[in-house]
Amino acid sequence: MTGPNLSLAQIHNRLILTARQILRQHEPEPDGRCPTCRSTGCRIADAARDVIRTVSQVRLWRVGTAPTTGDPDNRQQQE
Ligand SMILES: [Zn+2]
Repeated sequence: MTGPNLSLAQIHNRLILTARQILRQHEPEPDGRCPTCRSTGCRIADAARDVIRTVSQVRLWRVGTAPTTGDPDNRQQQE
């Protein structure tokens, strides 16, 4: 899922995408049972919700600082 060359923003986005996919697969049916686990109160869906909630609260950049996409040398000059 993650590799050594991914930026924090890419890892952040992949965590959210993966958690959403898991949540779709474990979304409770009208009877309250998970279609994948066949149980009520699916722990995997709970974990995916926790990941989405936690990752959504993480602030990747300081206020007023846009994510840098350009030359890394320019980043050093700004500091
Ligand atoms: Zn489940």
